[in-house]
Amino acid sequence: MRIFTASLATETNTFSPVPTDLASFKAAFYAGPGEHPDTPTLCSSPVPILRRRGLAEDFTVIEGTSCWAEPAGLIQRQTYESLRDTILGELEAALPVNGVVLGLHGAMVAQGYDDPEGDFLSRVRALVGPDVLVAAEFDPHSHLTALRVSKLDLLAAFLEFPHTDFEERGEHVVDLALRALRGEIRPVVSTFDCRMITIYPTSREPMRSFVDRLKAMEGQDGILSISVIHGFMAGDVPDMGTRIVVVTDDKREAGDALAERLGRELYAMRRDTAMPMLATEPGLDRAIALRAAGATKPVVIADVWDNPGGGVAGDGTAILRRMIERGIGKVAVATIWDPVAVSFCHAAGEGAEILLRFGGKSSHHGGEPLDARVRVLRTEETGWQTFRNSRVTLGRTAVVRLLGTEIDVVLITSRTQTYEPTIFSNLGVDFEAKDILLVKSTNHFHAGFAPVAAEILYVAAPTSYPTDPATTPYAKASHELWPRVPDPLGLDG
Ligand SMILES: [Zn+2]
Repeated sequence: MRIFTASLATETNTFSPVPTDLASFKAAFYAGPGEHPDTPTLCSSPVPILRRRGLAEDFTVIEGTSCWAEPAGLIQRQTYESLRDTILGELEAALPVNGVVLGLHGAMVAQGYDDPEGDFLSRVRALVGPDVLVAAEFDPHSHLTALRVSKLDLLAAFLEFPHTDFEERGEHVVDLALRALRGEIRPVVSTFDCRMITIYPTSREPMRSFVDRLKAMEGQDGILSISVIHGFMAGDVPDMGTRIVVVTDDKREAGDALAERLGRELYAMRRDTAMPMLATEPGLDRAIALRAAGATKPVVIADVWDNPGGGVAGDGTAILRRMIERGIGKVAVATIWDPVAVSFCHAAGEGAEILLRFGGKSSHHGGEPLDARVRVLRTEETGWQTFRNSRVTLGRTAVVRLLGTEIDVVLITSRTQTYEPTIFSNLGVDFEAKDILLVKSTNHFHAGFAPVAAEILYVAAPTSYPTDPATTPYAKASHELWPRVPDPLGLDG
């Protein structure tokens, strides 16, 4: 048995001012055939999993290229086409194969391509023919198109948000693919369009219980897999929106019925899934009050929408500026993306005191740049943080302290959201001694930071992210979605 595996992934915020090119992939993650580390990355876990299982179970795995760019704006056409053609060339050279298992994200948009994954999967299918198994793992913040479904034999997305289960779901997809190839199952994919878009954190109710129920159903009554495609509201493409995916063992009707039933249940919860968010001033008031009331751990403030993981630059200054103006003095910030400021810090050297302009440069949406006298506490050629078993690069990195305060700011070159406290500890920032930790992430930080936080506050400060789908000026996405219309499925009583 011969299986080809590769990964091509990023998430495109079509409203972002940060374009995506080949350098964006090379800076974040790029592994040629055989070069994938043994540790997984968010969207490429099928590659190391198949490598391990091929050795243990005596089948041949042919590895193609795996790459990931931090979410940002539209992908340059030549970049998408060259990455696609690189992997297709590797697949062609590997033929004949029995199966293809891909790590995708599912929310790529390139110049001239609203559905790059559909285009890619069509070409994969054309190369291998109708009888070879083609499977893929997706991020739930993706767009499910009919074209993709028609080219795939099976698919599954991560169930958790934060995506703490990306590796387990990679194992799940690999497992189903192997069982299908061994003739043990006949996967059939059913989908349901929920006609809505919002956010669905599983770190809180009602999504926690909903996802736990989905997990309990998998493996019962011929149900092989259930996924919720959350959708990605910052991607203006025709298929943007929430979907349910059910994979059954050759039970089309039961799968269709279950997808619809679960989709209607989720639809009924649509007003309750998102986490409550505070504006900047009430958020800071609350954090100060918690510390004044004796909280012994730092309060974690998530700058929810200045999240590079959602494709914005991650150089917003709105919340930090207000902290400085309000005299909040013991803060650690992870991160502000500013390659120029990082280069200045490296050139000045550790211990130097300089006047530094940082942040607020990618667009006018996230606040103006900050100007401050700072001491350079630390410089690193390659900073990094953990996310579960994966290692996430920060690129060239510097930590600065604003003079006259205990505000420490992590400045990075390779855009990434904040996942775990190692983003501070790896750089010598004593985050446990701070009053407030300001992180740039919508919810992926939650699993890592909950244990070190007195409380987690979600703060919605201005950025370029299109935060309200009811009013976002979509040109391509359907307008017949909740919350643009109140009840598109007609289920409200
Ligand atoms: Zn995601």
